[in-house]
Amino acid sequence: METMFCYQCEQTAKGTGCVSKRGVCGKEMEISELQDQLTGAMIGLAQAVKGKAYDDQTTDLVLAGLFTTITNVSFNNETLKPLIKRVQDEAARYGGSRDYDMDLLWTEADEDVKSLKSLILIGLRGVAAYAYHAMVQGYRDEQVNAHFYEALRQVAQERDMDALLAGVLKVGEINLQCMALLDQANTQSYGHPVPTQVPLMVGKGPFIVISGHDLKDIELLLEQTKGKGINVYTHGEMLPAHGYPKLKAYPQLKGNFGTAWQNQQKEFLGLPAPVLFTTNCIMPVKQSYADRIFTTEVVSYPGMTHIGPDKDFTPVINKALALGGYAQDTAFTGINGGTHVTTGFARNTVLSMAGTVVEAVKSGALKHIFLVGGCDGAKPGRNYYTDLVKQTPKDSIVLTLACGKFRFNDLDLGTLGGLPRILDMGQCNDAYSAIQVAVALADAFKCTVNELPLHIVLSWYEQKAVCVLLTLLYLGIRNIRLGPTLPAFVSPAVLDLLVKTYHIAPTMTPEADLAQMLG
Ligand code: SF4
Repeated sequence: METMFCYQCEQTAKGTGCVSKRGVCGKEMEISELQDQLTGAMIGLAQAVKGKAYDDQTTDLVLAGLFTTITNVSFNNETLKPLIKRVQDEAARYGGSRDYDMDLLWTEADEDVKSLKSLILIGLRGVAAYAYHAMVQGYRDEQVNAHFYEALRQVAQERDMDALLAGVLKVGEINLQCMALLDQANTQSYGHPVPTQVPLMVGKGPFIVISGHDLKDIELLLEQTKGKGINVYTHGEMLPAHGYPKLKAYPQLKGNFGTAWQNQQKEFLGLPAPVLFTTNCIMPVKQSYADRIFTTEVVSYPGMTHIGPDKDFTPVINKALALGGYAQDTAFTGINGGTHVTTGFARNTVLSMAGTVVEAVKSGALKHIFLVGGCDGAKPGRNYYTDLVKQTPKDSIVLTLACGKFRFNDLDLGTLGGLPRILDMGQCNDAYSAIQVAVALADAFKCTVNELPLHIVLSWYEQKAVCVLLTLLYLGIRNIRLGPTLPAFVSPAVLDLLVKTYHIAPTMTPEADLAQMLG
């Protein structure tokens, strides 16, 4: 192709696809093409291993490859090229197979086939990120792993609409299993999250900001900063780390810096500290703070120092000491002016209070439960989520997860039955916690999840939100509101099917949606 083609995220150009020389996210055409080559090589690898016994080395490479193609993970041709070669060499180990040409998918004439195959591939990228996080903690699920190969082959070979639709829901099913695996990895490694108030104030002296989802990385960083006079602050999706008992036991884990990922170019300006990116979302790095950006795992950006598999964070620590941090304690606020946020309301905590919640519903004190979750993004229109949460009635609680919560997690909405009205369940993968709570409540009321006074309003940006959505569809959950815009890769006929079967609806205005939900 003479121009790139990518439509995998919510901010895609004109709501249809990035088709010029540079994507809205800053991804250059060369990077987009290399990511396509990488995906084509992984499809070739999936074909090469068909019917053969494969080992963890092969699967780990597939997880890394799929994760690398997620939005805001890799902008670096110097790491993409060797990765493609490694995948091709790995395929050769199994007798080899031709790489798939991704242009065949992007130029597919049948828009519904293209749509369903894109849903499978884009959802699979999200699942791979979760499987990768579990894998670095030593947790694997062979059924989940096997499905990566199966689904990659399906993208290349399948044309039957029913089979493709089943393939889309299968990604949702496998993602549920994968989120359960990651939940097991996180809770067995670090304990069940407990409610924790997190200050937004940054103390004086040297500090490090750590962003992304990888709990293993923050554990290793906390271990290596012990006794060095350096404080550690979470950023973005790392915020829920504060709730895990084993992580919160480190005294230098002090608070959270900044808000959601799309504000980083503003928030990192003049920051007297290094920032370590463990996963998405890294944005094109501004020269003014480029000397302070470090990457690890699959994150890669040209010219930034990368911490390799030895996980020696000495360069980050030395940078923190050299920059010295703020001279005085420095107060920051959330988007709404709040001075702290609260996290740690994952499934164990909420289920331990299930009796209180059930009684509150029965007595009429709690009439509605909102789940407002998903990723944040840069496009205008996302104030919808702030406005919606602000307008939720006092006899309701708001469960939330992922980085979209930074739009409202510093609001004080008061309490209901002793519980804060906003309950942060964790990262996007902690959608697993929300599902467990919904299923438990449905059991308690002897009804289905769809019959609960539960209203699900999702914000999506990248591919992990897609696999979470597919999981909700696989579970048969209806009436999900999805915004701020619908995915470009959902064709009109596929959308029609989703609307008819699952009653998915695009978000409208907070007032109109609330009127319907409370109706
Ligand atoms: Fe465009 Fe999103 Fe693809 Fe970036 S990841 S090129 S913004 S569709």
